[in-house]
Amino acid sequence: AQGSPIATVNPYTGERVREFPALSAEDVGRAIDAAHSSFPNWRARSTADRGALVQRAGRLMRERKEELAHLLTLEVGKLIDSSRAEVDLASDILTYYGEHGPELLEEQPLPVPEGTAVLVNEPLGVVLGVMPWNFPLYQVVRFAGPNLVLGNTILLKHASSCPQSALALEQLFTDAGVPTGVYINIFVRGRDVGKIIDDSRVQGASLTGSERAGVSLGEIAGRNVKKSVLELGGSDPFIVLDGHHLERTVYAAFLGRLGNTGQCCVAAKRFIVLADVYDAFVTGLRDRMSEVRPGDPVDPATTLGPLSSEAAAELLMEQVRDAVDKGATVVLGGGRPDLPGAFVEPTLLTDVTPDMRAYREELFGPVATVYRVADEDEAVALANTSPYGLGGAVFAADPERARGVADRLEAGMVWINHPTASRPELPFGGIKRSGYGRELGDVGILEFANRKLVRYV
Ligand code: NAP
Repeated sequence: AQGSPIATVNPYTGERVREFPALSAEDVGRAIDAAHSSFPNWRARSTADRGALVQRAGRLMRERKEELAHLLTLEVGKLIDSSRAEVDLASDILTYYGEHGPELLEEQPLPVPEGTAVLVNEPLGVVLGVMPWNFPLYQVVRFAGPNLVLGNTILLKHASSCPQSALALEQLFTDAGVPTGVYINIFVRGRDVGKIIDDSRVQGASLTGSERAGVSLGEIAGRNVKKSVLELGGSDPFIVLDGHHLERTVYAAFLGRLGNTGQCCVAAKRFIVLADVYDAFVTGLRDRMSEVRPGDPVDPATTLGPLSSEAAAELLMEQVRDAVDKGATVVLGGGRPDLPGAFVEPTLLTDVTPDMRAYREELFGPVATVYRVADEDEAVALANTSPYGLGGAVFAADPERARGVADRLEAGMVWINHPTASRPELPFGGIKRSGYGRELGDVGILEFANRKLVRYV
């Protein structure tokens, strides 16, 4: 959270492993200067040239897989296999944009009645990335990979709880041959980010994180007339229309909720199930969730890790207690296991009503809420009551019926018969309080581009 020290604290043991001082205002000024003065040379290189360096970073990341995976597990408590999977995804993103970025950035002829017109994609300059701890590598590369190929230079302010992952990323780009000043890690507190955006040498900022941080960054960027991209929280609906392949649907629900110990912006958080299949779904999900084994995230036999911090576990427990006090039914869990570390039991709640925090707030951990609805209209209406609009999933035997529901959801991404996920080539982002703009895909790589019109008459 804002104001916490920049430190590695192992969430499994509570041990404070390493602390780093925040940069002084002078040091931040020097970092901005370095990113600004490296821009002209970086911009002058070809997209193919920059792409080759980004591809090299992708290869190096894979070579460092074990070391990086252990760092993620140490800093945020991620299950070791999930950490390895994150390294693979992050490496794939770098490789994909290194390889395909140049063609996504090619200039585009525009239809005009006479003469010619083209749209050219130019970099803007220094862009700031503010990133969260839940996927310390993935979150950074989906911003940095495409922007480096485009030709922007980057200042990266990572979450205070994953400083060693932040340093490992900077080292990776350096070792891949990205010139000095083009990618700079800065250790600053969340509250000091505003001054960086105020600096005239910085052209834009992208933040992935909480709504609170996004509101602050968006306000400051707006005041400075600078482009911003906000990837904020979510409370994604997972809608089940029928009992088709129910076991598979339940498994998808389980993965969608408990992946990354539930700390995923596009985790399935609200299960909205048609009455016919509701009882079977609740029983199936309860049984699946009750099988997980909490423990040391480095042990491959562990299937439920701790949350990223004690504060995160306590916040989630407050939300659960509030629901239970107001009459929610606890089908499974509801407490904290008898273990040291930031654990919360896998929890399944039903009878959640609008007066409860769990109804409208994001539940960032292993707590599922299941709602019974009569039909598709009620499912859509309930899904859209959320202030968020990030992702969503619809499960049905008939893909067209699912598509009909998908088209009515207020969300930036909807997956059919699969939990919402992220892939290198697909755009990612939301609407409403989940933010604006996209990362990844042909949309994402152009967010911090000057799409310049050149007209010949
Ligand atoms: P957070 O507190 O907002 O932290 C995210 C980043 O913002 C950190 O680097 C943090 O720095 C910084 N920050 C905090 N306050 C700030 C401020 N006032 N101005 C500028 N930057 C500030 O987020 P979190 O609670 O740790 O992360 C979880 C949230 O991120 C969840 O809501 C989740 O849904 C969301 N998320 C969204 C996506 C997406 O793509 N939409 C992906 C992943 C996560 P410090 O660490 O130094 O405070």
